[in-house]
Amino acid sequence: MPTNTYDCIIVGAGYAGLSAAKALSENGKSILVLEARDRVGGRAWTKHLDDGTYEDYGAMFLGVQQPNMYKLASEYDIRTYDVPLQGKSVFRYKGQTKKYSSDLLPPLPIWGLIDAGRVLKTFENMSAKVNLEEPWKTENAKKLDHQTLAEWVRLKSWTRSGKDIMRLPFELIWGADISQVSMLHALWYCKAGVSLTVLSTNDQGAQMQLMVGGGQAVANCIQKQLGSGAVHLEEPVTAVDHQDEDEHVVVKTAKGVYTANRVIFATPPPIILKVDFTPPLPTQKVKLLESMPMGKYWKIMATYSKPFWREMGLRGEVVSPDGYIGLMNDVSPIDGEYGMVIGFIAASKALAFLEMTQQQREKIVLQELGSGFGSEGGKPTRLSIHSMMNEKWSGGCPVGVPLPGTWTSLGEWVRKPIGRVHWAGTETSTSWSGYMEGAVCSGLRAAAEVMAVMGKK
Ligand SMILES: Cc1cc2nc3c(=O)[nH]c(=O)nc-3n(C[C@H](O)[C@H](O)[C@H](O)COP(=O)(O)OP(=O)(O)OC[C@H]3O[C@@H](n4cnc5c(N)ncnc54)[C@H](O)[C@@H]3O)c2cc1C
Repeated sequence: MPTNTYDCIIVGAGYAGLSAAKALSENGKSILVLEARDRVGGRAWTKHLDDGTYEDYGAMFLGVQQPNMYKLASEYDIRTYDVPLQGKSVFRYKGQTKKYSSDLLPPLPIWGLIDAGRVLKTFENMSAKVNLEEPWKTENAKKLDHQTLAEWVRLKSWTRSGKDIMRLPFELIWGADISQVSMLHALWYCKAGVSLTVLSTNDQGAQMQLMVGGGQAVANCIQKQLGSGAVHLEEPVTAVDHQDEDEHVVVKTAKGVYTANRVIFATPPPIILKVDFTPPLPTQKVKLLESMPMGKYWKIMATYSKPFWREMGLRGEVVSPDGYIGLMNDVSPIDGEYGMVIGFIAASKALAFLEMTQQQREKIVLQELGSGFGSEGGKPTRLSIHSMMNEKWSGGCPVGVPLPGTWTSLGEWVRKPIGRVHWAGTETSTSWSGYMEGAVCSGLRAAAEVMAVMGKK
């Protein structure tokens, strides 16, 4: 086989691309992974600092019912540990700061609490009925896909606080305003991640555990297993020529031209549009990719000499529907050697943050840390405020969200191979879409597609 010819070329070395490459290579296929950035991991990026600490700018939590990520962590001897659940959470809302014990519903006025509980139950029941594989075949799919989540919440919830508390988890999950997300997508996404309750919680939820070494640790291990020759960093794919559909596909970068039997794209959906396809992708596929904008998100990381809030009987969680930082969590290392709190600023608040100077952002973040954890909270030894919104190879974060009407008009193009080109990436997964687990599932599914067709030829 000529040097630059492979069974499969994988575009993107995030969890989706790396999982596809691992599965194919373990099944005897020759692979090449082409990655635009100077590192693997994509939206999982752990920065190791000179003082021995590390910060996760992207994904870090593992959740309940995520067998593939846990299998990988165990395969590479990466320890996982629980996010602390002992102690009270803090609720900041309408100028008041209250401590509470409940894992899900915070101390709202009684009518707000009843309202939110009722709306949540209705949502969960509807979500359980969605068709995961083909959401466009769900009963009343068209109606649900043209109704925004904001409209639905407005109709179902009759208190201000109920509305606010239903809005917050969704904004945090997608980094999108709920007026830009269809009810069908909301129901589908929550079922893909078990339920809205699971997606919003630590205890037996999506934010249950952390990996020692950070969210990128497993990706680094896969890269090592594949070998340096198999993963080309800093080599973005610029063009794909698949006109010789009966023979092969040609993949071009600024550094080389490669030929493969199959190609798997494992990048965020809108980023695929940067690549020049010959012949062009079908219009429906292009429209789908254009209709899945990436979310708007900032992540803050505040480091302290120790997790001092634990001594105050707090678990490090702060929930704030009307603050800039909607949610904070304790992500201190397993040995508690130092303390770390992360926080998320999502959707329209993330856009407002873009308009500010770094000094203005720091002032707000320190104020909110202080309000959540007392004066010590406002004095971290290090503060990082980061966003992947303007990173060329992510285009936003944490996930691409289809606009209302997209699932029912273009949804069938999400995974459908086009000639020799296959589609992975967390957004294409029917299980844990939007999460590392979903990325791995999508990579394994795309690898299975490639093996199935190659086995026949
Ligand atoms: C701030 C933040 C917090 C998050 N928190 C969590 C969490 O706690 N738990 C969780 O499970 N998930 C979390 N997520 C989501 C999670 O990061 C993603 O779902 C997952 O990492 C996506 O993996 P992927 O492989 O599908 O895509 P990506 O990780 O985006 O990988 C795609 C890769 O393709 C590369 N690429 C793009 N274009 C090209 C090109 N033309 N040529 C070559 N390479 C290209 C990119 O550089 C990138 O490396 C978070 C995300 C963010 C941003």
